[in-house]
Amino acid sequence: MIRFENVSVTYADAAAPAVSGIELTVPEGELSLLVGPSGVGKSTVLGAVSGLVPHFTGGRLSGRVTVAGRDTRTHKPRELADVVGTVGQDPLSHFVTDTVEDELAYGMESLGLAPDTMRRRVEETLDLLGLAELRDRPIATLSGGQQQRVAIGSVLTVHPKVLVLDEPTSALDPGAAEEVLAVLQRLVHDLGTTVLMAEHRLERVVQYADQVILLPSPGAPPVVGAPADVMAV
Ligand code: ADP
Ligand code: ADP
Repeated sequence: MIRFENVSVTYADAAAPAVSGIELTVPEGELSLLVGPSGVGKSTVLGAVSGLVPHFTGGRLSGRVTVAGRDTRTHKPRELADVVGTVGQDPLSHFVTDTVEDELAYGMESLGLAPDTMRRRVEETLDLLGLAELRDRPIATLSGGQQQRVAIGSVLTVHPKVLVLDEPTSALDPGAAEEVLAVLQRLVHDLGTTVLMAEHRLERVVQYADQVILLPSPGAPPVVGAPADVMAV
């Protein structure tokens, strides 16, 4: 579903590439976990999938990244939005509307869907994420875990094939993190969505992963495999 072929990214003014020579395959319908110490290039890899690199962060990308066959260098994030949904660490920075229901609808607005399709998708997503009872609530009054589920929901109504998340549980307490991870697991298992998630607190999430991609140190090639095999490295 996601392929990296000899991918390097160099930011302006940087002495060395942030990531270099990355070869990687993320299989369809699995949850892949991207791990490694802070600064090793996890966000850069995620950005190359969602098209933020090279279109918005100023990084220069060489090699090729394809998502569902689309080259992310020749497609802007907007042109990838129906394929890749991206959720950042801080859900609050995502939100553009006031209430849960409006936020879920907002992501679809540029897709030109019929109003009844949009309504159906909002309902379906409220149910999937356990947000139905919170639909009219101002997002600002929700807990961190609830907000993170709204951020995921606003992307899911688009029905992306791939969901990319950058440390989605980092600001959450263990119980809320658990809720978010359970939602991701359901997406993978019930809907066949491909999930790529960066995380540095490995012990919290590794049980949910089908594949682990370890970036061991800056510039080093990724170690990819089943969670138990990579953890043994
Ligand atoms: P991680 O997500 O693993 O913490 P990042 O991908 O954020 O790693 O960062 C990798 C390297 O690239 C770091 O040295 C970081 O300082 C640098 N970097 C990340 N984003 C930018 C940017 N937009 N401009 C310049 N340098 C950046
Ligand atoms: P429409 O595509 O017209 O909005 P539905 O909303 O009923 O129709 O969804 C069509 C199919 O998509 C359903 O089988 C549903 O299970 C599935 N689906 C629901 N949520 C998602 C999702 N987040 N990603 C992909 N498929 C999904």
